[in-house]
Amino acid sequence: MREVVQVTQVVARSYDCDVLVVGGGIVGLSTAYAIGRATPGTRVTVLEKEPGPARHQTGRNSGVIHSGIYYRPGSLKARYAVRGAAEMVKFCAEYDIPHAVTGKLIVATDREELPRLHALAQRGRENGLTVRELCGAQIAEYEPEVDGLAALHVGTTGICDFGAVARRLAETSGAEIRYGARVVRVDRRPGRGVAVLTADGDIVRGRVLVNCAGLHCDEIARRTGDEPGARIVPFRGEYYELARPELVRGLVYPVPDPAFPFLGVHLTRGVDGGVHVGPNAVPALAREGYDWRTVCPRELGATLSWPGSWQLARRHWRYGTGELHRSLSKAAFARAVRRLLPAVREDDLVPTAAGVRAQAVLRDGTLADDFLIQEAPRAVHVLNAPSPAATASLPIGREIARRAMAQLTPEGR
Ligand SMILES: Cc1cc2nc3c(=O)[nH]c(=O)nc-3n(C[C@H](O)[C@H](O)[C@H](O)COP(=O)(O)OP(=O)(O)OC[C@H]3O[C@@H](n4cnc5c(N)ncnc54)[C@H](O)[C@@H]3O)c2cc1C
Repeated sequence: MREVVQVTQVVARSYDCDVLVVGGGIVGLSTAYAIGRATPGTRVTVLEKEPGPARHQTGRNSGVIHSGIYYRPGSLKARYAVRGAAEMVKFCAEYDIPHAVTGKLIVATDREELPRLHALAQRGRENGLTVRELCGAQIAEYEPEVDGLAALHVGTTGICDFGAVARRLAETSGAEIRYGARVVRVDRRPGRGVAVLTADGDIVRGRVLVNCAGLHCDEIARRTGDEPGARIVPFRGEYYELARPELVRGLVYPVPDPAFPFLGVHLTRGVDGGVHVGPNAVPALAREGYDWRTVCPRELGATLSWPGSWQLARRHWRYGTGELHRSLSKAAFARAVRRLLPAVREDDLVPTAAGVRAQAVLRDGTLADDFLIQEAPRAVHVLNAPSPAATASLPIGREIARRAMAQLTPEGR
């Protein structure tokens, strides 16, 4: 009996942690936080390549706590966004993180959009939301400067600082978080868990790996030996800051194009009082390509060699050309914004930091719409965590944690 105990201790000690999370964005940190809450004593290590948390998608987004109106009822997005929005507001209140429940308008500016606007109202109600349908004249009650034929008002939408949320999750998770630790190799062996090598030459061993590497999640999955069946195609979202923020009171969105998982250029008054205009969606020439000058030939080559990228380009070249034009011409961007906000002038738009979306694209060119979590032996890979993943990060983190912990049970091994 004593021998068995000793062997178990040696095996336990040969692991640096139970759960090894790659990626210190909001999803990886929510996972660590969820494990800390549900099973204190579980050893969690988070490896993040940057010097701090939330340096990529989490710290470069619109900062909107989405209500859940857009998502297909029953989808993971719908389930987690509605629950996640309420939990996010509570989390921000509990930890004193700047936030507000502002409500938002979705505005139709073209007759063609009216049936889609109505369908969106129905969908919102199916997802349990209270939605108010407005005629054109009623828009001014909320946004005097906004023009449209009709609109929806959703009361539960809010704003917050997701970077601050991520920092809080890191502080309260109880996990060991190593910054500046870029995972360059993953080694998984039967009965020996998973070992990763960092760029600095450190080896970290865990019993199960959780891949929350965002823009690099497909690369980490492949390094683990699991084929993700999709590749991350990076789509940059460029923003301007509105020089006359008084033109917008809250959040104003267009009716989204159902062919895309992106919401279209919107106007969002953030927690700092400034109004952001954006994001558009243009292909990024590097996974962390925050402007046109940043090009990574290796990553670009990987995108171009994925058949899905070409299928996608073939299907959506017309829309893509419009987005490119609006990216390269501020006058064209301003013209597009004027459909919602007629008073805006080109010199009201001041360029500000962009974000890049980690969009999973399947081999046949389909843009993965829902969250995509894939399980493999001793690994859980988060392969698509697009918007509203920041909003929904608390329930998503619990779901990932549940799957990772299940792998630690004798049956899951
Ligand atoms: C322009 C834009 C606007 C958005 N607006 C909203 C919004 O208003 N509301 C909303 O809910 N969602 C929004 N989103 C979506 C939301 O930001 C993301 O879904 C969410 O931040 C994803 O979090 P993540 O942790 O998966 O990814 P990330 O935040 O990108 O984190 C992944 C982390 O993994 C690290 N990493 C990668 N590779 C390695 C490696 N090899 N070793 C170690 N670390 C590694 C990265 O450095 C990074 O920190 C938006 C996204 C974008 C881009």
